[in-house]
Amino acid sequence: MVTRSAGAVERSEPAYRFDFCGGHPAIDFTNTVGNRGDEPEEHLHTYGDLLAWARARGVVSRGEASKLARRAQDDVDAAGRALRRAVDLRETLYALMSAVVDRKKPEKQLLARLNDYVSDTFGAAHLAVEEGRLTLKTPSDDRLDAMLTPIVRSAIELLTSDGAARIGRCADKGCAWLFFDTTRSGTRRWCDMKVCGNRNKVRRFRAG
Ligand SMILES: [Zn+2]
Repeated sequence: MVTRSAGAVERSEPAYRFDFCGGHPAIDFTNTVGNRGDEPEEHLHTYGDLLAWARARGVVSRGEASKLARRAQDDVDAAGRALRRAVDLRETLYALMSAVVDRKKPEKQLLARLNDYVSDTFGAAHLAVEEGRLTLKTPSDDRLDAMLTPIVRSAIELLTSDGAARIGRCADKGCAWLFFDTTRSGTRRWCDMKVCGNRNKVRRFRAG
């Protein structure tokens, strides 16, 4: 049954601004949970939250976002499924990237979980010509979880490149956010110097 409701596309925390200090779309996506190492705070409660993140991060265009919002209102159940899938993908990516940071071989099960998204995204992918240039079309283009395609794509590009060695985790244990380290020395420690960096400086000062 199709139920129409505005609830699906409403944001749960309209004042919350998503943080993109991770510096990479797939990494920023894993940072939609605050305080990961302490008491995790979920920021993707509704499909509207997911869509707002995707729009703000630029993984969907304004036009695509309004189309998806309309369709989510028309099919709340499908929107709920898309949200659950997004959260599952996010946690899979976080676990896999954490293993990479710790230089650990990822568990088979974890890799299999990500591979479900890989085959779902690319299983029927094909090239087509659009506006005079080649574009990779994927079967999810018309689905409510269409925003996961660019996330999966950028995650694969990152994880299979030399850039994987540049994935880091915030040195604040309670935060545990991931980031892409673009410093020449590869010694970035904090997700955000202004937040975790300063907080830990203050802590060290007090302790000393
Ligand atoms: Zn941090």
